[in-house]
Amino acid sequence: MEQQTGTGQEEAQTAHCDWHPSVETRLSCSQCGRNICTQCLVQASVGIRCPECGKTAKMPTFDVQPTYYAKAVGVGVAVAIGGGVLWIIFNAIFGGFGILSSIPALGVGYAAGEFISRSVNAKRSKGLAYIAAGAVVGAYIISLPSSPQVGFFGLIILFVGIYTAVQRVK
Ligand SMILES: [Zn+2]
Ligand SMILES: [Zn+2]
Repeated sequence: MEQQTGTGQEEAQTAHCDWHPSVETRLSCSQCGRNICTQCLVQASVGIRCPECGKTAKMPTFDVQPTYYAKAVGVGVAVAIGGGVLWIIFNAIFGGFGILSSIPALGVGYAAGEFISRSVNAKRSKGLAYIAAGAVVGAYIISLPSSPQVGFFGLIILFVGIYTAVQRVK
């Protein structure tokens, strides 16, 4: 730190910007506390920062924030329950056709991907992919007691449904 410039008595009332020594300011960096002025402050998600601290505090545009995950989980649960119930109804009508009862997996997969994607403004992440996959599996488990035995082919369709959901948000 270099010696302060100007008159020492003023120091208590008036601070000068650390980057622009001629500019008086009352602002300070929320991270390091150094004085900054309106010319050099950096707007961060947690307040204003000096140019130095601001470099490491850019708005996280590509990160999916916790609130988005909360929304995605809510939508995922809704799709799992709604899809599961529709699936049970589907089975009640078409259950006798065996393999046909796997078809809702595709619809649930599409719905899970679509609705979760919309709820997070089309953001994508690995976490969202797990939530989307979980929604399809959840609907499958809910419908399971009403489903006829469809074996391997049914599992393949289930995985296509999961894949569809995951691709949308991954
Ligand atoms: Zn700082
Ligand atoms: Zn400044």
